[in-house]
Amino acid sequence: MLDALKEEVCAQNHELPANGLVVGSGGNVSGRDPETGLIVIKPSGVKFAKLTPDTMVVVDIDGKVIDGARKPSVDTGVHLYIYKHRDDVRGVAHTHSPYASSFAARGERIPAVLTPITHILGRDVPCSRYATPGEVDTGAAIIEAAQGGYAALVKAHGVFTMGASATEATSIAMYLEEAAMTTHLAMLRGPVDELPQEEIDRCFAWFRKNYGQSGQKKVAD
Ligand SMILES: [Zn+2]
Repeated sequence: MLDALKEEVCAQNHELPANGLVVGSGGNVSGRDPETGLIVIKPSGVKFAKLTPDTMVVVDIDGKVIDGARKPSVDTGVHLYIYKHRDDVRGVAHTHSPYASSFAARGERIPAVLTPITHILGRDVPCSRYATPGEVDTGAAIIEAAQGGYAALVKAHGVFTMGASATEATSIAMYLEEAAMTTHLAMLRGPVDELPQEEIDRCFAWFRKNYGQSGQKKVAD
């Protein structure tokens, strides 16, 4: 069941180590099927290299396993909390990517100083309050911090990104890490100027209108 979504979610999980966003089996990507509302997610504790579409786990919105031989990711509850509270989200990615997580370690947001990431997000990257690991508190902290946006750092933990698909959520995680690295390097040499919100809004609208081929969904892929 949900073969196309399993392929997409598997491929996007492979993108995490391929882009230096995770080590070991940490980090995960999920996707929601708009027809059934079911969620496809990475299995728990399986090395990325071993992931194939048929190792993906299908769960319902309450976490009951509908299809798959393995246990779903330990972060499944956090993904489900996000899906329950955000109808617009059909993909979630979670990483501990080092530069972005270094901001999370300090409880700091990533300021909006670079147009490539603000084109995508339309704002800075907020950092949540500290949350007890686990679905409810971490999920609530992400929803509170994101304020309807598509990315949030969780203080003392890492990165959660959201998108219109698993592919979009993963792309945002990649661009976010690049922006975190560049912003960190720039901040080592002195203060950085944040883009004015008016300009961020203009860039965000321009990107949504002009990115990609005509008729293509406006995603950062
Ligand atoms: Zn984590």
